[in-house]
Amino acid sequence: METWRLLDTPPMTAAENMALDETLLELKNDGHSPNTIRFLQFSPRSVLVGYHQSVAEEIREGYCLEEGIEINRRNTGGGAIFFDENQLGWEIICNKAFFNVNIPTQRLFKTLCNPVLTALSRFGIKADFRPRNDIEVDGRKISGTGGTDSKNAFLFQGTMLVDFDVDTMLRALRIPVEKLKAKEIDSVKDRVTCLNWELGYTPSLKEIKSAIKHGFETGLNIQLIPGEMTPEENLLFKEKLPFYQSSQWIHSVNPVFQKRDAVQSAYKGEAGMIRFTLVVNLPQKRLKDVYITGDFLSFPSRALFDLEAALRGSLLDRKHLHGIVRSFFDENKITIPGMDFKDFVIPLDQALEKIKIAKFGLSLKHCNQISVANGSFETVIQKKPSVLLLPYCAKRTDCDLRYHKACKVCGEDGCTIGPAWTMGLKDRMKVVSITSFEDLWAELEKMKKDGVKAYIGCCCQPFFAKHVDDFKKSGLPGILLDIDNTTCYDLDQAREAYAGKFESQTRVDLGLLETVLKAASP
Ligand code: SF4
Ligand code: SF4
Repeated sequence: METWRLLDTPPMTAAENMALDETLLELKNDGHSPNTIRFLQFSPRSVLVGYHQSVAEEIREGYCLEEGIEINRRNTGGGAIFFDENQLGWEIICNKAFFNVNIPTQRLFKTLCNPVLTALSRFGIKADFRPRNDIEVDGRKISGTGGTDSKNAFLFQGTMLVDFDVDTMLRALRIPVEKLKAKEIDSVKDRVTCLNWELGYTPSLKEIKSAIKHGFETGLNIQLIPGEMTPEENLLFKEKLPFYQSSQWIHSVNPVFQKRDAVQSAYKGEAGMIRFTLVVNLPQKRLKDVYITGDFLSFPSRALFDLEAALRGSLLDRKHLHGIVRSFFDENKITIPGMDFKDFVIPLDQALEKIKIAKFGLSLKHCNQISVANGSFETVIQKKPSVLLLPYCAKRTDCDLRYHKACKVCGEDGCTIGPAWTMGLKDRMKVVSITSFEDLWAELEKMKKDGVKAYIGCCCQPFFAKHVDDFKKSGLPGILLDIDNTTCYDLDQAREAYAGKFESQTRVDLGLLETVLKAASP
């Protein structure tokens, strides 16, 4: 039986924890550190984006600054996490030879998560491994994991939710709505659980660590001996720390672009979320820049930057771009457990479709705010949309008709529904105010029965992303225009909004609506 080190480090800053991870992996790779199980904690509270995520996309920086929550980046893939004193991190730093693997696979992830399932069972909690890399109790995540590797070694880590401050997490992280869609639930609170919620009390950290230690010892057939950092580890750790405290590291993934030059798309596949940002030189029909971000695990970690570099400067030609992406996967230049070439070209195609809209005289900024159901922008336009759908959430909150179908076009300041209504009528469209989730599907059904060929609607992009399949199922071709202001998703009030009770006011983008109506009228 092999003996491994158990390294129980005291609470550290986010930068310290990241620098230590890198130190341990590097020295393990060189054969200068023992195989190690480490417990880690964070002080002060921290939010950490995954290796391929950008802080701007995932984190509410202003809120974190106000609350003294540190922001940093992990060297491991996976999604953004909030780490406070109610969570315990565990990680394995080990040579690949121990598991006889070259590239970490989902099977390896399962093997590495099993000890934590054993630990939970000691508390009477039945948990399961859920591909790609979560540990769940009755479908709710209690431990998320991530990993990275080097030539000879890998680091795999997870969090154990002991207790959970959901509200702070929701405020600190921007939860991608596509994630909610995939699990078909409307609240983040339904997706997670913690030891306290499961047990009705909070076990001591000592008990939890002891259970996890036992899980690893039995699961990996090893003996864990408590140990300290070696002098070599201490030295390298001190050398690395300034880099992990620097903006150069924290913001190393940072899509920089002018909105007028870029389109974005997002796709939630089985193994994670992929976002494409294409910065475009339209006159030259070339990609000026490409950013691919997401919460997936890629091996080797840097391969994604190489893919971005290979796409950069390419002609805006779908086949050519597909060829570049395919070669990366076919030639094993990149491995993403649970994902292949097809998962990458779906969001790439979505972004390319948006660029095509520019030929109707729309700016790329406007193209980016448009989603299409059951066809392309061009085919929907050709069908001459005859109905305009407007959301009740854009009506004034003090309007008597806010939760009703009508609008008096009263001319009150601060309401975009009146002007939008007028624009629709001027274009001889039937204008309909949507008052709830059910009302939308009922209206689409009615429109189909009435022989409506196509429609234009205004709704927030998160709603479209979440219900893209429902829009498709309705069968009616439609163009959906994004709306402004904080949506019910940002406020975690989707349930209230669906029931027609959302109390904040959004705004129809009148400039965008006008441009699209103009493109639609010959
Ligand atoms: S324009 Fe219509 S929705 Fe807006 S305040 Fe007036 S009546 Fe209400
Ligand atoms: S989902 Fe919420 S914010 Fe979006 S259009 Fe509907 S009510 Fe408005």
